[in-house]
Amino acid sequence: MPVEPSDLPPTTTTPATEPVTKKAPSKKTHRSERAEDWAHTRVGDPWPCDICGHNAFMRDPYTGRPCHLICAKTQAHERGEQW
Ligand SMILES: [Zn+2]
Repeated sequence: MPVEPSDLPPTTTTPATEPVTKKAPSKKTHRSERAEDWAHTRVGDPWPCDICGHNAFMRDPYTGRPCHLICAKTQAHERGEQW
């Protein structure tokens, strides 16, 4: 007479653990590539800005031309480009 495996522990179904939703990091400003380039751009003698004509110490990181960061930024926004 076969022994019934009656005294085996009942198979417990482990409930699926709820996915832990990580909290979004608190407002860490992510700089775009362009903003990053501008942040490390060269500075030099005050030269008239290519855009507004006022003296600018900063150089456009792409053209090397004197240009204010704010002017380049404004122009980018006017063109609908991502800064
Ligand atoms: Zn300017």
